[in-house]
Amino acid sequence: MIKVDESKCIGCGACVAIDSEHFDFDENGLSKVISQDMTNFSADVIDSCPVGAISIENAEENIETQAEEITTEQIEESEQIAA
Ligand code: SF4
Repeated sequence: MIKVDESKCIGCGACVAIDSEHFDFDENGLSKVISQDMTNFSADVIDSCPVGAISIENAEENIETQAEEITTEQIEESEQIAA
């Protein structure tokens, strides 16, 4: 999933100029994602952002990461109880 962090975006327009298929300006002059089609997506646009506002997020990976964190916490808790 392509994401723009609006709290970081300064509206420089680099992403819109490079990749108008995926990015456009919103009503506040900041970048917004207009397509999640990854077919023609190039990671170059991520590097083009001067403030690092663009990222790719994999929802399934996040869920797995959270699950791993919970498991690790539970293991640590059970070790403390055992000690
Ligand atoms: S390149 Fe980055 S700062 Fe510039 S408009 Fe796009 S998201 Fe905003």
